[in-house]
Amino acid sequence: MSYVKGLKCRECGKAYPKEAIYVCEQCFGSLEADYDYEKIRKDFTREKIQKRPPNLWRYRELLPLDGEPTVGLSSGFTPFFRSKNLAKRLGLSELYIKDDSSSHPTWSFKDRVVSVALSKAKELKFDTVSCASTGNLANAVAAHAAQAGLKCFIFIPDDLEAAKIIATLIYKPAVVAVRGNYDDVNRLCAEIAARYPWAFVNVNIRPYYAEGSKTFGFEIAEQLGWRTPDHVVVPAASGSLLTKIWKAFKEFEKLGFLAGPLKSRLHCAQPEGCSPIVTAILNQSDAIRPVKPKTIAKSLAIGNPADGYYAKDAVFESGGFAAIVTDEEIREGIKLLAETEGIFTETAGGVTVAAAQKLIKQGKIKAGESVVLSITGNGLKTQEAIQKSVGEAVSIEPNVASFEEKVAGRYNVTQRVIARSPERATKQSGSQA
Ligand SMILES: *Cc1c(COP(=O)(O)O)cnc(C)c1O
Ligand SMILES: [Zn+2]
Repeated sequence: MSYVKGLKCRECGKAYPKEAIYVCEQCFGSLEADYDYEKIRKDFTREKIQKRPPNLWRYRELLPLDGEPTVGLSSGFTPFFRSKNLAKRLGLSELYIKDDSSSHPTWSFKDRVVSVALSKAKELKFDTVSCASTGNLANAVAAHAAQAGLKCFIFIPDDLEAAKIIATLIYKPAVVAVRGNYDDVNRLCAEIAARYPWAFVNVNIRPYYAEGSKTFGFEIAEQLGWRTPDHVVVPAASGSLLTKIWKAFKEFEKLGFLAGPLKSRLHCAQPEGCSPIVTAILNQSDAIRPVKPKTIAKSLAIGNPADGYYAKDAVFESGGFAAIVTDEEIREGIKLLAETEGIFTETAGGVTVAAAQKLIKQGKIKAGESVVLSITGNGLKTQEAIQKSVGEAVSIEPNVASFEEKVAGRYNVTQRVIARSPERATKQSGSQA
C-alpha cells in the first residue's frame, strides 16, 4: 500500500506523477514526495514502529515507495547514546551522539538515501544506477547496486581520498574520475542523465533519494524517547540532510508522535573552505552565493548546494544558527571525539564537533540544554586528513630492554612488584592471540 500521492513542486506546488523527474517544468523548482498524511495518520503508530526490526524501513509509511523495499534492508537504526566524556569537555549536561560512522554497509549516512533511492529505482524498472559523489555516496551506491544486481556508473572528482576510491572500486562499478570539482561532476551528470536511461540517485531520482535522510531525524526522535532535543548540529554539503531532519521532526509532530512540543534548533556546520550555506545564514542573506571548494572535508565540498535555500530556511524556521570551522579545528574535532568517546569519525564529523564547540562558546547552545551531534561518516575513509597529526607508533626491538628504554620511560609507567619463579615465567611465555 502506498502513502505517496505523487511528486510536488516545492515552489509552486504543481503536482507530478511518481516518475524519475526532479524539476518543475513550470517554475524550475525542485520536486518533492507528496504524502497522504490523513491516510498515514490512520494506519501508522509509534507502537507499529517499535514492533518492527531495527532498520530504516520501520518508518516506511513516511518513505516514498509504492511496494516493499528491496534494497538496503539492514541499513539505518544506528547507535544513539548519551555522552559523558565529551559532554564534560564541552561543558554540557545533556549531550547525545547519533553515530552513522557505523552505518551498514558503507559507514556513512549515505546508506540511508541510497537504500531508498535504489529501492525506488527498482520499482521504476531501471537496470542501471549512477551518481555524482563527493565520496560516501559513491561507496553507498556501488555497494547497494552490487547487492541489488544493478549496473552502476559512479562519477567522482579526481582528488578524492584513497579509501573512498578503493571502497568504491571493490564493488566493480564503472568509476569515472572527472578532472574537476564536485560541481563540475554534478553538471556533467545532469547532462548525462538527460541522454541515458539511468537512475541518477542524486539527479533524476533525487526527490526519492532525499527522503531517505529523514530517517536520521526519525531515529533521533525515537531513540530519545519520542522527543526532539533542544539542539541538533548538522554538517552540510548540498544541505539535504539538514533540511530533511527538520522535515522528519515536523512529520512526527504532525502525526502526534512527539511527547512534547517541537522546539529543536537546527544548526548548520560547514568548513571554512566551502561554506556557502553558513555564510548566507550568518549574513541573514536570502541568496546562496556559490564558492569554489578548498577544504579537507571533501565529503562537504559542494560549492553550489542544491538544497542550500531549504537548509537555510530550516535553520531560520527552527531558530538555529550556524558555524564555520577551519581545517585545523576539524582535525581537533576528530581527535576530541576519538579521545573522549572512542569514535573515529571522518572530516564531516570533525566539522560537527568543532561547530558545536563554537556554538557553545558563542552562547547559542547553553550548558543545561539537550544537544545531539550528527556524526555522519567514518574516519577510516579520510585518514589523509589527520595522518600527520596523530603522532607515530613507538618502534622497538622485540626485547624488554628496548621496551623499557623506548616506552616505559616515556610513558612514565611503574613495574609490577610481584615476585615470580623464573621457570613459570618461561612456561607461560608462548605467544598469546
Ligand atoms: C554527504 C555527506 C554530508 C552532507 O550531506 P548533504 O545532505 O548533501 O548536506 C554530511 N556528512 C557526510 C559524511 C556526507 O557524506
Ligand atoms: Zn513549480
